[in-house]
Amino acid sequence: MKKAVFIDRDGTINVERHYLHKPEEFDFIPGVPEALRCLQDAGFLLVVVTNQAGIGRGYYTEDDMERLHEHMKQLLAPHGVSFTGIYHAPEAPHQPSERRKPAPGMLLDAHRHHGIDLGRSYMVGDKRIDLEAGWNAGCKTSLLVRTGYGREVEQKEADQLNGAPIVDDLAAAAAWILKNEGLR
Ligand SMILES: [Mg+2]
Repeated sequence: MKKAVFIDRDGTINVERHYLHKPEEFDFIPGVPEALRCLQDAGFLLVVVTNQAGIGRGYYTEDDMERLHEHMKQLLAPHGVSFTGIYHAPEAPHQPSERRKPAPGMLLDAHRHHGIDLGRSYMVGDKRIDLEAGWNAGCKTSLLVRTGYGREVEQKEADQLNGAPIVDDLAAAAAWILKNEGLR
């Protein structure tokens, strides 16, 4: 069984933009490609788990999202980084879903598809629903980053974070995880 880091996309990997779907509007948060490489080199599978309510709401299509993901993968290729999977939940918030975070469906699917040991895996994101998805899936630790909505969440929802580690960004999350694993 392999270990993984599940990573939220918007506000964690890339700069948060409202209903991002155009490749030209995609920008990595500084240090993200290097952080992904670092986790990959430490033996973690990298799995993106992203809510994409903009699809359910009809703001953009699955094809738009796929184009964006191809662009993201191309930008990561020179860093030697590849994702084991990019899972998305297209439902709008009012639609029933076992996959839309905070539900753990995307993580459970990745566990089934790729033999991931959830108890040895981590979840990183900028919203409380990201942390909850990790908790609901039985991940070892869910970490909050202060990028995207994270700083606001840290201030407004501090009493609902169950003592989750809070770090500045994905680079700091990678360092935290490696240290926690005794790898650094
Ligand atoms: Mg996010």
